[in-house]
Amino acid sequence: MSLQNITIISFGYFEKDMLEKIADAVKLEFHCSLSLKEGHIDLSEYYDPGRRQYNGNELLKHVSAIQMPGSCKTLGLFNVDLFIPILTYIFGQAFLGGPCGIASLYRLNNTSYGMEPNADLLLNRFKKEVIHELGHTFGLIHCNNPTCVMRSGTYVEDIDQKEHSLCLKCRKELEL
Ligand SMILES: [Zn+2]
Ligand SMILES: [Zn+2]
Repeated sequence: MSLQNITIISFGYFEKDMLEKIADAVKLEFHCSLSLKEGHIDLSEYYDPGRRQYNGNELLKHVSAIQMPGSCKTLGLFNVDLFIPILTYIFGQAFLGGPCGIASLYRLNNTSYGMEPNADLLLNRFKKEVIHELGHTFGLIHCNNPTCVMRSGTYVEDIDQKEHSLCLKCRKELEL
């Protein structure tokens, strides 16, 4: 795969250190260059009061409308509870082989499950989620390899079962 530039836009507050670690992990995994940007958004427009969650489809549309010159993929990061109509919640989603995706920290955080916060675990989960959604934008579908980052997961425990890297088969597909 030729050198590509990915843009990661954070919407809302994220620790700088965490964003930089996420960026480093993405660069390493996809052999690409990467720009970190801050986005501004009025999240109240995406809030569904009935579900008390934020509309993942509409947020994905918002991110897809942002054009970054010279960037092949754009990923929007959020820290709110995302849903799509057919699912209770989502960790993130992306256009398969498309220009963009979104990922949220919210459901990856122990505190969302009434457990003690764990910064290392949270960072690891977020790395996996971000790489997973970017994998979709590069055209990868879900993988059956139990440790591959492209393995699908319904629960946060599923994410803990996999690595934050692509398996050999997925890497081959992307010619990495
Ligand atoms: Zn997926
Ligand atoms: Zn795989």
